[in-house]
Amino acid sequence: MRYISTRDLSIRCNASQAIAQGLASDGGLLTPFYLPRLPNKTLEELKEMSYQHRAVYIMKQFLEEFTVKELTDYAAAAYGPEKFDTPAVAPVRTLDNNTHCLELWHGPTCAFKDMALQMLPHLLTASLTKTEETKTAFILVATSGDTGKGALEGFRDVARTKILVFYPKDGVSQVQQLQMTTQEGGNVGVTAVHGNFDDAQTGVKRLFSDKNLREELARRGYFFSSANSINWGRVLPQIVYYISAYCDLLRDGRIQPGQGFHICVPTGNFGNILAAYYVREMGIPVQRLICASNRNNVLTEFLRTGVYDRNRSFYNTISPSMDILISSNLERLLFSMTQDPEEVRGYMKQLNAQGRYQLRENVVNRMKKIFCGYSCDDAETKKVIRQIYEKYDYLIDTHTAVAFSALEQYRAETDDDSPCLVASTASPFKFSGSVLEALGVEPSGDGLDALDQLAEKTGLPAPAPLAGLRGKAVRFTEEVEKTNMADAVLSMLE
Ligand SMILES: *Cc1c(COP(=O)(O)O)cnc(C)c1O
Repeated sequence: MRYISTRDLSIRCNASQAIAQGLASDGGLLTPFYLPRLPNKTLEELKEMSYQHRAVYIMKQFLEEFTVKELTDYAAAAYGPEKFDTPAVAPVRTLDNNTHCLELWHGPTCAFKDMALQMLPHLLTASLTKTEETKTAFILVATSGDTGKGALEGFRDVARTKILVFYPKDGVSQVQQLQMTTQEGGNVGVTAVHGNFDDAQTGVKRLFSDKNLREELARRGYFFSSANSINWGRVLPQIVYYISAYCDLLRDGRIQPGQGFHICVPTGNFGNILAAYYVREMGIPVQRLICASNRNNVLTEFLRTGVYDRNRSFYNTISPSMDILISSNLERLLFSMTQDPEEVRGYMKQLNAQGRYQLRENVVNRMKKIFCGYSCDDAETKKVIRQIYEKYDYLIDTHTAVAFSALEQYRAETDDDSPCLVASTASPFKFSGSVLEALGVEPSGDGLDALDQLAEKTGLPAPAPLAGLRGKAVRFTEEVEKTNMADAVLSMLE
């Protein structure tokens, strides 16, 4: 399969080059030139398979240079019982006739990032071999919480990789911080940055483009790589779970063959909902994609007006993994909608220079036929957690609650009650404090006390990887100024 840059069709490569590079040399995103269609006969076969086998079949369509044997080994390692607490890996929980919840948080860090970050290290190290790269990958990550831990857990002790995560000192929850600072593994590093998430993210971008640092790294046998969702190796495993969920719904008779359904996704960087869009392009009968945002509602506005404008206040919310104003993966959607790299380049240039761009009207109309956007604030988020708990005896986290609010708004506005699959992106125990407040309980003590409190209140067991944080030794206490992040890189090479 041919991969191209969203900004230049003459930049082309195969899958392993796309995964090893992460980003195209012109700053565009490496993306398949076309998407394979899945015939009905294939779906019939996939229906009877395990999650791991579905993953092999679907990923193989995109990864020609990988053998079935290779992919089978990766899927077994990434989604096996040592990593996921259910054999279904990504189970679908049906709430009522037309509302189904896709649980993406059964992995080692209890957030949906595991679905891709457990697979990416296998794809990346194999891609290094296939592209005859001899140096070690030095993976830099800036995180607002979930990506950092997911990447650390995925890459720990993976041969030919080192990973360094930067998190904003006061910008992550206590549980998220503990998850990272207690990380085990011989090739990992974690450093707090004095600043907010944007500072950490900007700092990482600066390290990537620091010529002297890159040369120093090369002298010592390393090169920089990314585990961010701009890497195709993160989008692909996300395509798998939407197709898998559709197969489950068909198998269990919740949806009839050919019947349309919607997918509703709590969105930040636009990676997760992009995968759902690709599944639609592959021929799965997805009708609408409902994009849910918190108070940082730049995408809601964009999907309604075609104007993307990041010149606005940034809010810290109780769904922090969606606190983001620049959604990188939107660029892949723009490419798909316009099929015109020059047009995409123009929008991205305007975004860089003015923080704003306006889509051509017929592109807006095309987008609106498929996507719609809704947002809600923290108070509404909590109200929804309580409602869902009372109505269905089902506990959801703050991010998933934003999605349920969006679905409710969509149904009220359109009177359309077609079946909908809602992506559930984190375990409620990861955000115990806010979830407790939603249920009317005042959280007491630190993040881990709230975990116990929530378990007691609901009678649900706290996930083992979170409960196990108590008593774990903190390994990383390093802090840097945002201007000195290179020091952290160099000290990891010693
Ligand atoms: C990362 C994350 C999101 C946002 O996903 P994107 O792919 O960035 O849109 C939503 N919820 C949780 C819990 C996350 O960790």
